[in-house]
Amino acid sequence: IKKSGLLEMVPIKESLDDIGGLDKLKDWLRTKKTVFNNLGLALEYGVDTPTGIMLVGMPGCGKSLAAKTTAELFQIPLLRLDVGKLFGKYVGESEHNMQRALKLAEAASPCVLWIDEIEKAFSGVGSATSEVSTRLFGQFLTWMQEKNNEVFIVATANNITTLPPEFLRKGRFDELFFIDFPNCYERKKILEIHLKKRKQSLSAIDLDKISQDTKGYNGADLEAIVKEAVEKSFIRKIKSGENTTVTQNDLELAVKKINSISETL
Ligand code: ATP
Repeated sequence: IKKSGLLEMVPIKESLDDIGGLDKLKDWLRTKKTVFNNLGLALEYGVDTPTGIMLVGMPGCGKSLAAKTTAELFQIPLLRLDVGKLFGKYVGESEHNMQRALKLAEAASPCVLWIDEIEKAFSGVGSATSEVSTRLFGQFLTWMQEKNNEVFIVATANNITTLPPEFLRKGRFDELFFIDFPNCYERKKILEIHLKKRKQSLSAIDLDKISQDTKGYNGADLEAIVKEAVEKSFIRKIKSGENTTVTQNDLELAVKKINSISETL
């Protein structure tokens, strides 16, 4: 797999509990896990075998995290397809690369095949200038229908407006999830997760206030706030010699310092 340069085995440290919010997605994945882990019985019973999901949305809102935790939940390896590396300069090279990547994924099954930024491969489909994209697209659709049941696809995209509509119609992926900016409840969960990860006590912190003050911040911004605040409290601890932890003030100052992604868009 490594030698092919097309696929990479991604190490996973996170589990579903590390995702703040996205409750519908998490419930959906738990259901699919039960089916995926009992494929034979599911088929016998008449339950459709899972094909995969498409996760679409803003950067830094947890799409990659969800791809990783899907593999952790299903207890199978995660292979990431580098879409950019599919394209070659010789005639037929791109199609050959695609075929090779898909074959390798099947050989490694059961696995999750994560296709990150899938729009990079298929955005030109249908246009005269991108015959290669159109051929790759046809190849991929055929594979999706015929593939080994033990390859679960997680496709992630920031922008689906450039993807061919027939790709998104019902029956291709099992589900298409829009991953939006976290709401207030989700922001609180995300802050909580990242503070707990850094072993910080939450007892003296008003996380409701921080969540209300961070409208427009994505998960990555919220993580950056926690990192900044924790570092500040560490410096204080070292300088003062006191055993302090992160405070409300550390977090509020970090909110002021870290710009939200919405401000940069
Ligand atoms: P991109 O489109 O830029 O790849 P993405 O949607 O895949 O973005 P991630 O890479 O999953 O975003 O998020 C970046 C980091 O932000 C994650 O590793 C995680 O630490 C944090 N993060 C984002 N969303 C969440 C969330 N819902 N819960 C907890 N942490 C989050």
